[in-house]
Amino acid sequence: MPKTKTSKSLLRNDVNFPTFSDLPDENDVDLTYYDEGPYGFAPSQHWCFLGEIVDSYGLGRILLRVKDKEDQVVTIGLYTDDRGQALAPQIKQGHTVAVLYGEQHGFLDMSVGIRVEEASVIRIIPCSLEQLLKVSDDVAARNSDRQSRCCGSCGQKEDTSDKTHLRLCSRCKQMSYCGEACQKKAWVDGHKVDCKVLVWVQWFAARNWRVFNGYFNF
Ligand SMILES: [Zn+2]
Ligand SMILES: [Zn+2]
Repeated sequence: MPKTKTSKSLLRNDVNFPTFSDLPDENDVDLTYYDEGPYGFAPSQHWCFLGEIVDSYGLGRILLRVKDKEDQVVTIGLYTDDRGQALAPQIKQGHTVAVLYGEQHGFLDMSVGIRVEEASVIRIIPCSLEQLLKVSDDVAARNSDRQSRCCGSCGQKEDTSDKTHLRLCSRCKQMSYCGEACQKKAWVDGHKVDCKVLVWVQWFAARNWRVFNGYFNF
């Protein structure tokens, strides 16, 4: 089915960041994501599944239960060489799993989800799915506002004739402030947490998801 719904907030784009029900089925060719080329079907664009961890289990092989943007809970099975052991210390309920090029899979226990075979396609982002989406929205809103202004509570516009330019957060390099006072207050008021999430949102934003020129890796 063709999809036309778009959003300015990158991670809310439901073609490139689909819910489980919109992922291609591994037993079928989904023409939203694949095109027929000279060597058979190949991806025509990139996609990444996002789901928040609700549970994890499995001895030997790690299995995650995650909730997608539509609150559907599915399984992510780690069939990597180390059976997910390298990821284990980061697994935390309420944090978000990102899986590149995931496809719908039916497991032997009759649950549905994604079978992950390469460690390079899965990462855990240390925040809830809601917070990740919120930060993505904030970035979209800021990008549409052409005027540079202080991201602190004062919201002051940058005066280009003035010598005092806005100072950038040295960690995320996304938020700028009129001065130390605004920056410190914003840090305590929530940027301390958002800053790490912003680094992830930028990782996604730095890539062109609509054109396929080889697979992305985390
Ligand atoms: Zn300010
Ligand atoms: Zn920052």
